[in-house]
Amino acid sequence: MNRDFTVKKYSELLDAFKEVDYSFQTFRDFLKQPLERVVILRHDVDKVPLNSLNFAKLEKDKGINASYFFRSVPYSYKPSVIKSIEKMGHEIGYHYEVMNQANGDVYKALEMFNQNLVKFRNVAKIETICMHGSPMSKYDNKELWNKFNYHNYGIIGEPYFDIDYNKVLYLTDTGRSWSNEETNIRDKVESPFFYEIKNTDQLIELILKKELPNQIMLNTHPQRWNDDFLRWGKELVWQNMKNQIKRFVSRRFRR
Ligand SMILES: [Zn+2]
Repeated sequence: MNRDFTVKKYSELLDAFKEVDYSFQTFRDFLKQPLERVVILRHDVDKVPLNSLNFAKLEKDKGINASYFFRSVPYSYKPSVIKSIEKMGHEIGYHYEVMNQANGDVYKALEMFNQNLVKFRNVAKIETICMHGSPMSKYDNKELWNKFNYHNYGIIGEPYFDIDYNKVLYLTDTGRSWSNEETNIRDKVESPFFYEIKNTDQLIELILKKELPNQIMLNTHPQRWNDDFLRWGKELVWQNMKNQIKRFVSRRFRR
């Protein structure tokens, strides 16, 4: 059986990019010196940080550097894992959700942001941040920056603000599919690109046929990618359930 969302499948995906001469950059390096034909690998470590450690090792073996965004919550923030991943040459970023944590109070949210930044900077070099979607929350974490400016905190970029999606194709595994408009409530960007990609094999096919643009940001959640059959099945059932709920919420948002 050819299962999708396994570490093996992720490895095949990376090989496909290599096959047609894409380079890889961390988000930080891309901001400083973008390459012409490049994939920015962004990983949102929502939970199960050990899966991210596996991803990090796999990429290191292939000579690839990626960006890992960790949350401040105990089931994501694991200093030993963060340090190991950084040591392999990957970038560590802060996956913030303070608007949600502060119940929409921007001043409290900024204070929490600062405290968490200090906590993260005790373990790793942090130059970039990325919002956590908090799909079930009524607060959009990005809204913190309507009032404040992250550049004042030694942060050089946030993927939702500092990437030109007219040029860079954004692909995400949110909702366990690569093009699931309806289940992406917040994890979406304004862009002229549209590809109907149902699974990773289809994505690999498009890559090998050289049908994708030169610059791509690929966002994955490593907790969704499991070789182990039990964990893989658990994630599949959970994701289907979440998609149902999100479809419902997203329809309500549109009204
Ligand atoms: Zn997230």
